[in-house]
Amino acid sequence: MIPQTELHICDWRSELRHAVSDGETLLARLQLNPEQLGYSALAARDFPVLVPRPYLQRITPGDPDDPLLRQVLATGQETLVEPGYSDDPVGETGATIQRPGVIQKYRGRVLLILAGGCAINCRYCFRRHFPYQENRNSRQEWLQALEHVAADTSITEVILSGGDPLLVADAALAELVATIAAIPHVRRLRVHTRLPVVIPQRVTDGLLQALTGSRLRCVMVIHSNHARELDASVAQAMQRLREADVELLNQSVLLAGVNNHAATLVNLSERLFEIGVRPYYLHLLDKVRGAAHFDVPQAEGIALIDAMATELPGYLVPRLVHEEAGQPGKTRIA
Ligand SMILES: *Cc1c(COP(=O)(O)O)cnc(C)c1O
Ligand code: SF4
Repeated sequence: MIPQTELHICDWRSELRHAVSDGETLLARLQLNPEQLGYSALAARDFPVLVPRPYLQRITPGDPDDPLLRQVLATGQETLVEPGYSDDPVGETGATIQRPGVIQKYRGRVLLILAGGCAINCRYCFRRHFPYQENRNSRQEWLQALEHVAADTSITEVILSGGDPLLVADAALAELVATIAAIPHVRRLRVHTRLPVVIPQRVTDGLLQALTGSRLRCVMVIHSNHARELDASVAQAMQRLREADVELLNQSVLLAGVNNHAATLVNLSERLFEIGVRPYYLHLLDKVRGAAHFDVPQAEGIALIDAMATELPGYLVPRLVHEEAGQPGKTRIA
């Protein structure tokens, strides 16, 4: 196992504190001109720019079309009003929220909103308008929420989500996981997180202990949209997770100008496999207000999956899915 200390000089919390949080600084660091890129301070007021340094370092300076930059830069396109785009495109608020911070849409699985924020702000995020303030729980409230899980024997999997659940401290995660593991009908723990991609230092010894220190098998679904996000430091973080027996899957969002080319998606799958991660889902964009310019039509998504299938073994082709409010699961498109 790679010792943690060899990997990282700066810890993840200090990387969070020093994250770039305005577009002007972001572009200045990358030697780019704000006007040329359509940077919009107005869009950034609606949903702030947030880019930690380890991610910033993977963006090519001087390249206005960098696929990583496109994911994090607030532009004027976000302020355009487009029909069909809403604040809650997947129907998460309202009926699916059983109690604050608990979303139960699909059979057998319950999703806990553990943290009301992320380490990075992805411009296309379907939760960019999510009312996190109304879904913040104290430790006591979490323990009560888990009573709901304990009372429902149909639940076999608890999904920690957010925001990014790995913003929660290791000790608190360990306590939560131990409480979940004490519920006999829960078999699996799943973590949906982008943090190990954004700040690989997040994969601390304490985190590995928290996630794997109980009887529950742990599945981690990371979120990467482009092979360039997966540098050597991310590969090392994945290796540490695998050595701790965490099952690794990836979900991506199909994004215009970022990854809507067959070669880009093939490269992503190849790179994921190289670092021990299986492609799981490729999501069609959720129609969230401000993200219309990232949309890729469904027919183009299907053609891309077909193209991938001609070049890759089946296990490296993700499932193309879309989330529709009121459905019993993700809708499989291809
Ligand atoms: C996506 C999602 C899940 C998990 O779905 P899988 O198809 O099992 O990956 C569970 N709950 C909610 C609310 C979700 O959005
Ligand atoms: S990490 Fe995930 S939840 Fe957080 S902003 Fe990005 S897409 Fe949204």
